[in-house]
Amino acid sequence: MISAPADVAAAKAAFPGWAATPRAERARLLHAIADGVERRVEELAQVETADNGALLRSHRRGVMPRVAHNFRFFADWLLTLGHEDFETRGHTNQVSWDPAGPCVLITPWNAPLMLATWKVAPALAAGNTVVLKPAEWSPLTASLLADIAAGAGLPDGVLNVVQGLGGEAGAALVSHPDVRRISFTGSVPTARHIAGAAAANLTPVSLELGGKSPLLVFADADLDLAVDLAVEQYDNAGQVCLAATRLLVESSVAEEFTRRFAARAAELVQGDPREEATDLGPTIHRRQLDKIDGFVRRALDAGARAVVGGGPDTARGDLYYRPTLLADVAQDSEIVQEEVFGPVLTLQTFDTEDEAVELANDTRFGLAATLATGDRERAERVTARLAAGTVWVNCFFVRDLRAPFGGSRHSGIGREGGTWSFDFYCDVKNTVTAPKGWRDH
Ligand code: NAD
Repeated sequence: MISAPADVAAAKAAFPGWAATPRAERARLLHAIADGVERRVEELAQVETADNGALLRSHRRGVMPRVAHNFRFFADWLLTLGHEDFETRGHTNQVSWDPAGPCVLITPWNAPLMLATWKVAPALAAGNTVVLKPAEWSPLTASLLADIAAGAGLPDGVLNVVQGLGGEAGAALVSHPDVRRISFTGSVPTARHIAGAAAANLTPVSLELGGKSPLLVFADADLDLAVDLAVEQYDNAGQVCLAATRLLVESSVAEEFTRRFAARAAELVQGDPREEATDLGPTIHRRQLDKIDGFVRRALDAGARAVVGGGPDTARGDLYYRPTLLADVAQDSEIVQEEVFGPVLTLQTFDTEDEAVELANDTRFGLAATLATGDRERAERVTARLAAGTVWVNCFFVRDLRAPFGGSRHSGIGREGGTWSFDFYCDVKNTVTAPKGWRDH
């Protein structure tokens, strides 16, 4: 692989040509990349599963089609971008969106190609060139994407993929002075390094980080729906930034909710992520499993009670963690406050709406929140008070790509999606033109 600075140089050299490429041609090439992804969905799905252990069936049916859609969505969006005009004392103010330059995109392992293309597509659509560094634990589909893009006719140097360790390849990229934008999805500690490096060059940075999102279950909710929503949080073995890992349940229904939840969790099939029937695959690596288990051990030592699971599934090897629900946890305890990034949920109860909102907002994160309630007015009241970038009411994970995505506080800085992505990847220009000064021909 070429070294990180060489890739930035390639992206810099290719920038003027790509920025000057007419929008219709850029959009055509992005659609051609989407076609290439669609032709190779099965291969991409197999490779992604082999790399990160997430379910093959969801890569095949949900994730890879969404990867193609990321390109189509931003290609189509690009063609709707116009100019905005204002007039003042006869002078026109024309606002335009100019490409910013070479962009460095750094992505995690839990949803490798989906998260990478969620950044690559808008950055390219806006006329920027890209250096993408995927996580060292899931490098393969990014390299396949580079191959697909080349096959689609994307000019050399427009999309560059760098493989390497975060502290080496990643650190070299984010501190490079020729980089005009840095977009990062990953953990809070890495975000601190990246924000520091970006600050030295005053490079604009977008940070999509972790979460500790709540699922609020009110007594007036459809309890079966609430249980479905809760069990869904074990998807991808809980390695999902958006996962609602704190179940906050109204006391009067807590016993019944817990009974139904435990019954549903017991039906989950844990095993080989390539098998169609599997619901829960392995964790990414042994270190992650040990980290998850450390959180659970310390919580149990502090008095928590394992209602479901509570340890690794050693019979299956050293990567599987049993879906776990811990009750009797204190609000200020580590297990309630810190992101575990594994199949571990906590259960707390509340008696009033105020108490529910207070518990929900009481962490340093602000990525998402989910509520289950049958009362529309309650949903509006509670939603207005929740500190979260996305709130789901009686649903989870569904989202229009035109809507903003991201979090506040330690969940990140900035938003991605539709116009928010374009604003980040563009330099906005205002051209003021006087009504006079023109020579008549
Ligand atoms: P991580 O921070 O360890 O790594 C993410 C990326 O950063 C990798 O590509 C890594 O190589 C790179 N990196 C590491 N050190 C670096 C440095 N000093 N300079 C530049 N790059 C560096 O995160 P992870 O363990 O891969 O992912 C899990 C985290 O990602 C969780 O906290 C999760 O919540 C978060 N996440 C957030 C979202 C979101 O959209 N908000 C989505 C998915 C995952």
